[in-house]
Amino acid sequence: MPLFEEDQDHRDFRRIFRKFVAREITPHVDDWETERAVPRELWKKLGKQGFLCPWLPEEYGGLGVDYGYSVIINEELIRGDGFGVGLGLHSDTATPYLYYFGSEELKKRLLPRCTTGEAIAAIGLTEPNAGSDLAAIRTKAVKDGNEYVLNGQKTFITNGVFSDINVVACKIGSSEGSKAISLIVVESDAPGFSRGRKLEKLGWRMQDTGELFFEECRVPASNLLGEEGKGFKYMMEMLCRERLTICLDCQTLAEECLKEALSYAKLREAFGRPIGNFQHNAFKLAQMATEVEIGRTFLKTLVSEYINGEDITMKVSMAKAWVGETAQKVAYDALQIHGGYGYMEEYRICRLYRDLRGFPIFGGSTEIMNLIIARRLGLSPV
Ligand SMILES: Cc1cc2nc3c(=O)[nH]c(=O)nc-3n(C[C@H](O)[C@H](O)[C@H](O)COP(=O)(O)OP(=O)(O)OC[C@H]3O[C@@H](n4cnc5c(N)ncnc54)[C@H](O)[C@@H]3O)c2cc1C
Repeated sequence: MPLFEEDQDHRDFRRIFRKFVAREITPHVDDWETERAVPRELWKKLGKQGFLCPWLPEEYGGLGVDYGYSVIINEELIRGDGFGVGLGLHSDTATPYLYYFGSEELKKRLLPRCTTGEAIAAIGLTEPNAGSDLAAIRTKAVKDGNEYVLNGQKTFITNGVFSDINVVACKIGSSEGSKAISLIVVESDAPGFSRGRKLEKLGWRMQDTGELFFEECRVPASNLLGEEGKGFKYMMEMLCRERLTICLDCQTLAEECLKEALSYAKLREAFGRPIGNFQHNAFKLAQMATEVEIGRTFLKTLVSEYINGEDITMKVSMAKAWVGETAQKVAYDALQIHGGYGYMEEYRICRLYRDLRGFPIFGGSTEIMNLIIARRLGLSPV
C-alpha cells in the first residue's frame, strides 16, 4: 500500500532511484559498514541525479517536488540496505532549517551546495548534559560586531564527522531556558570549530556520528537563522517533519524484518516441516504482519495530512512512539524465527535488528513522545 497518492512521475522516480540504490549502494554496504564511512563520492552521485533535497525549489538547486519524493527515497534506501547513508537527516531534517529560516543570502550561498552533494548538512542540538531536555543546553553565542562567537559542544551528531554545514542550537543573551535558544549555522571551516571522536555505535554503522566543538568559534552574524531567541519555536515546528521521516524509516525497516522472517520460516525445516508451519510461529508471523499493516495505515494518514499542511504534532508523536516500539517487537520476533542464524552477521536480519534499536531514542525518545501526547490530553506529568 503506497503511503500517498503516487502519480506516474512518482512511480518513474521510484524506479530510477531503486536502480541507483541497487547499483551504487547495496553492493558496497558491507564494506562501508566495516569502514564506518560512506565515500564522499556517493553524495556527489546522489546530487548529480537530483536525489538530494528534491523538495527544494529550483532556484536553490532542487526539483521543486512534493514530500512524496522524500518518502520514496527513504523507503527505497532502506529496502536496499542504505539506511546508514544519512540522507534523510541531510535532506529532510537539517536543510529545511536553512530553507525556512535562513536569510536569502544564506540560502543562495548554501542550499545549492546541499543539492549537489558538495556540502553535507548536520544538525547539532544534543549536548553531553542535554538531550531530551533541550532547554538545558549550554552552548553559548555572543554577538561581537558583525560576528557571533560560539563556545560549547555537541554530541551524537548524525553526519557529524563529514558535515560541512552545521545547524547549531545555542543560547544568546540572559533569558532563561528555552527562551534563550537560537539557531546559528556553523560552516566547518569556521575558525574555532573542531570535531571530536567518530562515535562507535550498536547499529547504523556506516553512518558517521560525531562530536562538534566550538572554542571562540566565529561565524558571520548573517548565519543566524530567523531571530534570536526563537530557536526553540523553530525546532518544535521542524521536529514534525523530522519525526515523520523517522517513522517512515522505522516502518520500512519493520516491513523488511517481516519479509526476512517470512521467507526464512518457509524455507527452514525442523522436526520434518518448515518452521513456519508450527502454529506458534505462524501466529507470530500473522501478528507481526497485522502490526506492520496497522503502522502503514496510520502513516498513510499522517503523510497525507502533512502534505496537506495540517498540524500533525500529536499524531506524529503517537506514531513515533507506537511505530518505534512495535518495530522493536517485530525485529525481536523476526530474529527469533531465524534461530542462531539470526544472530550471525551474514543474515540480513542481524543488521536490521541492530539498526532498528536507535529509533525509540533519537528524534525524541518514546518517553518524550508520551509526554507530548499526555500534555495534549490536558495532563501535566512530571
Ligand atoms: C544514533 C543517534 C543519532 C543521533 N543524531 C542526532 C543528531 O543528528 N543531532 C542531535 O542533536 N542529536 C542526535 N542524537 C541525540 C538524540 O536526539 C538524543 O540521544 C535523545 O534526544 C535522548 O537524549 P539523551 O541521550 O541525552 O538521553 P536523556 O535525555 O538523558 O534520557 C535518558 C532516558 O531518560 C528518559 N527521559 C528523559 N526525560 C524524561 C522525562 N521527562 N520523562 C520520562 N523519561 C525521560 C529518556 O526517554 C531516556 O530513556 C542522536 C542519537 C543517536 C543514538
